[in-house]
Amino acid sequence: METILFLSPTESGSPLSKSALEALATTKQLADSLGTTFSVGLWGDAPKADDIASCGADKFYAVTGAEFSQPRYATDAAAAEALCRAAGATIVVGPSGSRWNRIQAGVAHRLGGRADSHVTGLSVSDGSPAIARWYYRQRMEGILTRAQRPWVLAVESGIAPAWQGAPGTAAVEAVACTPPAARSNVTGIEALTADQQTIRPDADLLFVTGAGWTKKQPDGQVKTEEAQKLILAFLGLSRASLGSTKSLVDLSGEGQATLTFLTHMNQVGQTGSTPRHAKGLSTCCHGEEPHTVGWRFIGERRAISLDANCGWARGKADVLYVADAFAVMEKVNDLLAKKAGG
Ligand SMILES: Cc1cc2nc3c(=O)[nH]c(=O)nc-3n(C[C@H](O)[C@H](O)[C@H](O)COP(=O)(O)OP(=O)(O)OC[C@H]3O[C@@H](n4cnc5c(N)ncnc54)[C@H](O)[C@@H]3O)c2cc1C
Repeated sequence: METILFLSPTESGSPLSKSALEALATTKQLADSLGTTFSVGLWGDAPKADDIASCGADKFYAVTGAEFSQPRYATDAAAAEALCRAAGATIVVGPSGSRWNRIQAGVAHRLGGRADSHVTGLSVSDGSPAIARWYYRQRMEGILTRAQRPWVLAVESGIAPAWQGAPGTAAVEAVACTPPAARSNVTGIEALTADQQTIRPDADLLFVTGAGWTKKQPDGQVKTEEAQKLILAFLGLSRASLGSTKSLVDLSGEGQATLTFLTHMNQVGQTGSTPRHAKGLSTCCHGEEPHTVGWRFIGERRAISLDANCGWARGKADVLYVADAFAVMEKVNDLLAKKAGG
């Protein structure tokens, strides 16, 4: 019988993140499929177990202390290890993210177990827990089981709806953990403002820009500045996440006039990211396979291109608008602005 533990760091005073709640839902689903229960382990300066008191866990464990509030390998790994030992966990599920990803392999090593990252599904195969992972740039899905325990997993965000339920009062068992000497200290956070941060994993919509925005237009003009204004206005109004083709983000590296807010972090595709959003809208992009392979997990795909024969037209998109993206986005922005204005 497996002993399943959902494990997550907590941020000072904040409820669990959306990705942590998704991992919690995935853990619960695995426990239900195996016909067993699960426990919860949290760490931080004041872990808020009450928020998830009704999640169905049979036990709640917490490592509490100011030292454990800062994201730092030494203290995060020590807390996670102590929680796994207290729970006697054989399966440990944590949410992918900088804190859990950084310590996952180290914690597995300390426990004499094995780690798997980028898990996109948990299921049961021949009565044993199995994980799903994608290989070869998201082209092939593999289902794996492992004999070694504990098996320490990092599950991707966006693979399950976040757990929702009423808060309550969780009976939390305090787990002792002496914080190791800290060699690093977080003295502050410099975050981008909401408008500078164009990559928004929680957004419903992925908005992709292609190189067409910077190409000579049918009237013979290059309209990069106008493109920049239209795209930023749309992002501001829609709160969509901004993706790009490789061609467009490469242009800035080549010193050409381009969209200044794009970096390689925005690149979607074979050598870029594979984001998960309910919908996607591609603009001024040709829809070639190395780009569209990054759309694998986008629910509904639409594209605006001048080229009726582009890749999107050949089965890559659910809807292709053969139109001038400058004109379409100007109209869309007008409509969104009117809607926002009441
Ligand atoms: C090994 C390898 C890995 C790669 N990895 C990636 C990757 O990870 N991601 C990626 O994106 N690419 C990747 N590529 C590159 C990919 O093959 C394409 O070259 C790239 O995606 C093309 O970008 P694009 O569609 O923006 O540009 P283009 O091919 O130049 O297409 C621009 C499009 O914009 C349209 N257009 C122009 N003006 C307008 C307008 N006013 N309104 C509407 N449409 C307009 C044009 O009709 C055209 O279809 C990779 C290539 C290789 C070889």
